[in-house]
Amino acid sequence: MRYGDAMRPEILFPLFSPITTLKGVGDRVAPLLERLAGSRVRDVIFLAPQGVILRRPARVADAVDGEIHTLAVMIEGHQRSSRPGQPWKIRAMDDSGAVNIVYFKGVGPHLEERNPVGATRLISGRLERDRPDGVPQMVHPDYIVAPERAGDIPEIEPVYPATAGLPPRSVRRLVLTAMTRAPELPEWLDPAWRAREGWPGWREALERLHAPSGEGDLSPQTPWRRRLAYDELLAHQLALAERKGVRRSHAAPVIAASEAAKAAEAALPFHLTGAQSQALGEIRRDLASGRRMTRLLQGDVGSGKTVVALLAMVEVAASGRQSVLMAPTEILARQHFETLRGPLAAQGVETVLLTGRNKGAAREDRLADLRSGAAAVAVGTHALFQDDVAFNDLALTVIDEQHRFGVSERARLRAKGESAHLLAMSATPIPRTLELTLYGDLDVSHLNEKPPGRTPVATRAAPMHRLDEVVDRLRQAVIQGAQAFWICPLVAESELLDLAAAEARHAALSAILGDQVGLVHGRLSAAEKDAVMTRFVQGELAVLVATTVVEVGVDVPKASIMVIEQAERFGLAQLHQLRGRVGRGAAASSCVLLYDPPLSETATRRLDILRQTDDGFLIAERDLELRGGGDPLGLAQSGFPAYRLADPVAHKDLIAVAADDARLVLSRDPDLASPRGQALRALRELFDWRADGPLSAGG
Ligand code: ADP
Ligand code: MG
Repeated sequence: MRYGDAMRPEILFPLFSPITTLKGVGDRVAPLLERLAGSRVRDVIFLAPQGVILRRPARVADAVDGEIHTLAVMIEGHQRSSRPGQPWKIRAMDDSGAVNIVYFKGVGPHLEERNPVGATRLISGRLERDRPDGVPQMVHPDYIVAPERAGDIPEIEPVYPATAGLPPRSVRRLVLTAMTRAPELPEWLDPAWRAREGWPGWREALERLHAPSGEGDLSPQTPWRRRLAYDELLAHQLALAERKGVRRSHAAPVIAASEAAKAAEAALPFHLTGAQSQALGEIRRDLASGRRMTRLLQGDVGSGKTVVALLAMVEVAASGRQSVLMAPTEILARQHFETLRGPLAAQGVETVLLTGRNKGAAREDRLADLRSGAAAVAVGTHALFQDDVAFNDLALTVIDEQHRFGVSERARLRAKGESAHLLAMSATPIPRTLELTLYGDLDVSHLNEKPPGRTPVATRAAPMHRLDEVVDRLRQAVIQGAQAFWICPLVAESELLDLAAAEARHAALSAILGDQVGLVHGRLSAAEKDAVMTRFVQGELAVLVATTVVEVGVDVPKASIMVIEQAERFGLAQLHQLRGRVGRGAAASSCVLLYDPPLSETATRRLDILRQTDDGFLIAERDLELRGGGDPLGLAQSGFPAYRLADPVAHKDLIAVAADDARLVLSRDPDLASPRGQALRALRELFDWRADGPLSAGG
């Protein structure tokens, strides 16, 4: 639901008025400011300064080279530019010496009219001393004003983000104007907690934010900055907790534990890991609860998510209902189908595969089986949510690699079974703290343990000029029967160039290894890709050269070597995912990270992390620290919130506190009716967390 302005507490109205109500925001400025900050006064207020300039007043003789100074000078004369490209110079001086004020462009005759010879002016800007003529100069001073306007030049000036046509100083002026609209708001923080942290009130915190007295005040760890960050995190956690509450209130079919699921588990060729058993227990409780499950199964690549889904689907089938498992690609869907069909059949459950490639009569048969309920499990791709697909009684939707689907795709699938339980699976390792911000509205199960018998992947980095050695080792391994992935990333501006690089690598490897080298890339049709992948899976190909499109979830247990070219161009999480394609069998496996030297320091450390650990969550945590803020794991597309004042790295200690705080508040005061509850409503509105979360399709 989208709340209209009408539901907003009146006290927030000034903050939500359009930026065009601010003095100085007209037709020219409005679109620029909107792009920079947002369309509301609030958005301008939340724009934090990025730097601070100290404008030290000085005499010309005492001003320091390269520093920003404010000087009081008298205009001595104008030396106009006589030809294009030549600057306009104003000679000026105080009682300690002379200074040239220099303009390269954008000046007209008014410069002289406004600053006539003999006038006193305050100028402020960066001073350069080291001049051939011995006279220090100030190029394009930030300020040149008459003494009576001295108040226009701040001694300490916060620097705001800017955009073409809207320089930092204009932004600063607009922020100050917007700040005059900020009301005092009722306190929503727990008073004891606020006192303990020594945090100022909301409005005071904003004032401090916009009035730094030095670089140190820009730190994310100042009390006022932490307070504002906490406000934002709390508002978000509150919205997530409320959404979770709404989710849990939906009724759903009760699916009781069954003998069939026990039998299916007993028939597995292995024992479940402790983590798998626990996740399965959590899922079973949800299924039996009569409330709709919205659960995320988080597990690193190879942690064994599929079998957990399998056992849940058996449970559902035993209750006489249907399940669907959706995979992001054709090849993954087929692989899941092959994995699941046997164990399901052993329990008397019929499974159908539905992908974009099924046409005609075969497709009609499968659709009929789903409509009648004869097939209790459907495995497939996007084809599953086409209009003609209907279920008899869909009770469980499983989405593999959930981040690869859009919100609308999940919504369309959900529409096939309004009250179906949802199990989403993800192999994107994210640090726990971030998990709270990304998935705070879901129930999450973790597979934090890998099935036994895996040998860690020996990982090494090698510069590109040692390619021959790498290829030679590969050749020897292939003679011994090994299979390898060779990844050529899509990185260049032009996809065609990347493609050419992959084709060249394919040709070069084929020249050495013969016709057992295959190539897959994004330009191939789905059928062509599948054909190559299938030959690799079946062992006909020893080496598969691929661009990053290599299907992330595909299981080729025999593949034991992963070579990644230009590894420095990949995100750590991505490298970890790719490496996870090998090391699935018992054989020793290896991963070679080829890079173009020289490596930057950060790149070196990132590759080191990969060599030191294969724990995806640890890797994600370290990657986050190394990148520091921004969009650490490329999560922007997966619904990760764009915080204004909170920084998921710098304020990570506050995330868990905010989550607990939100939970506690809602358990005591679910309707937010108490005085603090009322104040929290204002907070929630202030940050306006209405955006749908990653799994919010269908509420
Ligand atoms: P992912 O979590 O990456 O989707 P999969 O479900 O594909 O992982 O499982 C990876 C491999 O591990 C599969 O070959 C699967 O059969 C195997 N596997 C899963 N669970 C166990 C277990 N408890 N013991 C041994 N092997 C397992
Ligand atoms: Mg998988």
